[in-house]
Amino acid sequence: MQHLYVHVPFCQRRCSYCDFSIAIRKRIPVREYVDVILKEAAAVGDPFDTIYFGGGTPSLLPPEAIARLLSELTSPRRTPHAEREVTIEANPEDVTVDSARSWKAAGINRVSLGAQSFDDTVLKWMHRSHDAARIGAAVHALRGAGIENISLDLIFGLPEELHRDWERDLEMAHALHTTHLSLYGLTVEPRTPLDRWISRGATHAPDEERYTEEYLFAHRRLTADGFAFYEVSNAALPGFRSQHNSAYWSGKPYVGLGPAAHSFDGTTRRWNLRAWEAYRRAIAEGRSAVETEERLTAEQRELERVYLALRTEEGLAITAPYRPLPPLMSQGWLVEHNGRLRCTPEGWLRLDSLINELTMHTETQP
Ligand code: SF4
Repeated sequence: MQHLYVHVPFCQRRCSYCDFSIAIRKRIPVREYVDVILKEAAAVGDPFDTIYFGGGTPSLLPPEAIARLLSELTSPRRTPHAEREVTIEANPEDVTVDSARSWKAAGINRVSLGAQSFDDTVLKWMHRSHDAARIGAAVHALRGAGIENISLDLIFGLPEELHRDWERDLEMAHALHTTHLSLYGLTVEPRTPLDRWISRGATHAPDEERYTEEYLFAHRRLTADGFAFYEVSNAALPGFRSQHNSAYWSGKPYVGLGPAAHSFDGTTRRWNLRAWEAYRRAIAEGRSAVETEERLTAEQRELERVYLALRTEEGLAITAPYRPLPPLMSQGWLVEHNGRLRCTPEGWLRLDSLINELTMHTETQP
């Protein structure tokens, strides 16, 4: 079973909170991009059970480029898979009736929309290039084209002075009847516009109390609406969990193509060169695009297994040396369910410290 991630690094501008590896371009070098990705792909095994176009902004690629990539990456030589999940991340302003139809015809069957908020003031503050109305229009265009598996990304925990109404945003999302939501708390990354605004006092840093309240509110609200949080930041209706992301969280191998893409074969993790130009040159000149690789020790693999398991609803099997620790259980951060330890929403809010306690404590056990 293989899982393929294709990184599309291009964006038209940088969002205020974003520190991703992106290439800001008014004109996207479509042909060069598709050629180097296919050249890198030639060395990769197959078939792929899931394909994920992430970014950057994959929806800036013209639909014909997506179609060419998918037809090469899933050609009969690569053994097509009828049930394959194929996702594209899209910004709402790039979704039109025509692009949605072309994506569907090319094999895309899941779209992750970068909605972030339904408040136009907030969207402007974030430097997003869509307004709230475009989100609904995008969802309707996708559905009209026969793409039902639609996820919305929303950001919570914004600075107080924006007066963002989180409850209203969740209601607006609910009204669109999408099948999946990814909720990310705002974090301040170094060297982002947001970091600079905070340093010069132009905005406040997000506040922890608001972050906690909004996260827990979303859990209550979405659970009441029939969604299950199957991972710390992801909630889905039955049958609509992301198979691709679930593969990451269960420690399965995956292949990444494109600048900054990661690959993992079960023991070794590799990162491609982050900058688009450096990556493009390496592939075009027939060199490896891998910037770094790291072979995980048995200890690192185990720590990662624990971390990934506790991020998910499935949780961690209660086997030696992991056992329910009374202080973590009595605080309501972990629960025992069918022989597994599972985080509660309150536990997910303090996942790192909880894992530290769990793993440190086991080291002192006989
Ligand atoms: S669209 Fe996504 S990748 Fe591009 S700048 Fe905004 S947050 Fe970053």
